[in-house]
Amino acid sequence: MKLLGDYHTHTVYSHGTGRVMDNALVAKEKGLEEIGISDHGFSHPLYGIKKSCLDFLRLECKEAQEKTGVRVLVGIESNFVNKSGRCDLSEDLYDKFDIFLAGAHVFVGYKDMSTWWNVGVASPLVTAFGGKRGERARSFITNMYITAISSQPIDVLTHLDYRVFSNVKEVADCCRQFGTYVEINTKKTHMTDEQWREVYSTGVNFVIGSDAHSPNRVADIAPALELMERVGISPDRVHNLNGKPSFRFAKYKGTSL
Ligand SMILES: [Zn+2]
Ligand SMILES: [Zn+2]
Repeated sequence: MKLLGDYHTHTVYSHGTGRVMDNALVAKEKGLEEIGISDHGFSHPLYGIKKSCLDFLRLECKEAQEKTGVRVLVGIESNFVNKSGRCDLSEDLYDKFDIFLAGAHVFVGYKDMSTWWNVGVASPLVTAFGGKRGERARSFITNMYITAISSQPIDVLTHLDYRVFSNVKEVADCCRQFGTYVEINTKKTHMTDEQWREVYSTGVNFVIGSDAHSPNRVADIAPALELMERVGISPDRVHNLNGKPSFRFAKYKGTSL
């Protein structure tokens, strides 16, 4: 099985250690046809990419593509910032990007108190221990994901259920309906096999993402292959293996990738 594109890689524009060119060179070495540079969204106070850097980022992606021959896609790993799951990639900036990844993160500049409480505090600290407060947070986050995915052309939902807990089956079913991929993240392998079976049972499709924060991890797919084998995930449902994904963001914008 061959990985054709790794769409989730970080660089010094957020808190990765390599530059765009470093990631692209590893992608070339490992035989990828394309790579996504998807640094953290703007509302992360410590390491969100700055809007003022976008033109440099695009230039670096273009140069890396020309030098390596690997297609370098300008992406972002956007944050959900309010209870409706509004992303910090707003529509006026869609033109600056080729691919749109989004993931729930803690320690983000949320726009309302209920999101601050449920996503930033209750879910990471309380849900794991059960109880009503934790369950309320889980249902808040499930709704947040569903409104986010149904209202914005998100290509890939990154590291589902990592510190921010939801009903993964309901979220995956929403991803299936709208054509958003659920990521099999090879850095954050927190979900249980049982959860993966529930996600798989919805019929949703997947992409593998390395979430590389250093160039040497670009295209690391070993943990995903082990998971697929264990859980029985068919390679046909993993769209960056042996083929290219069909991304909804490009379709939404009326462009082709
Ligand atoms: Zn992330
Ligand atoms: Zn990431």
